[in-house]
Amino acid sequence: MDCIFCKIANGEIPSATLYEDGDFRVILDLGPATKGHALILPKKHYANLHEIPEDMAAKAMVLAKKMAGAMTEALACDGLNVVQNNGEAAGQTVFHFHMHLIPRYKEDHAGITWVPGTLTDDDKTEIVEKITRELAK
Ligand code: AMP
Ligand code: ZN
Repeated sequence: MDCIFCKIANGEIPSATLYEDGDFRVILDLGPATKGHALILPKKHYANLHEIPEDMAAKAMVLAKKMAGAMTEALACDGLNVVQNNGEAAGQTVFHFHMHLIPRYKEDHAGITWVPGTLTDDDKTEIVEKITRELAK
C-alpha cells in the first residue's frame, strides 16, 4: 500500500517531528492553518476513526492532550483546535487516520468554523430516535 502517512510515521520519509513513541509520530503539517499546526499519526495504518481500534483511539486522545499542553506553553497560543476528518465529504484528503492540532491566536482568521443552523423539533426527534436505536443494537 502506498500511503504517505505510513512512510512519514515510520520514518521512511523525513518530517519535522515534534514527538515520537512506539505507536505515534507527531509532525508539523506542511500546509499549516496556523503557526504550529501539527498532526498526530499512528505508525500503523488505519484509514479513519471507524477503523482505528479503541485502545489506539484512546492513546491518540491522551497524546493530543499532552501535545496541546506543550504546544500551548511553547507557542503561547490563545487556544487550540483538535480536528479529525473522516471521509472526503468531511474534508479528509489523506486516508490514514490523523488528528490535527491547530494552535489558535487571537485574530488569526483561520476560519475553522461553520454557520450555525437550526435544530428543528422534527430533526431532534428523528435524529435522537435513529442514533439511540443504533447504539442499542
Ligand atoms: P485531512 O484533510 O484531514 O486529510 O488532512 C491532511 C493534512 O495533511 C493537510 O492538512 C495537509 O496539509 C497535510 N499533509 C499532506 N501531506 C503532508 C506531508 N507530506 N507532510 C505533512 N503534512 C502533510
Ligand atoms: Zn497509512
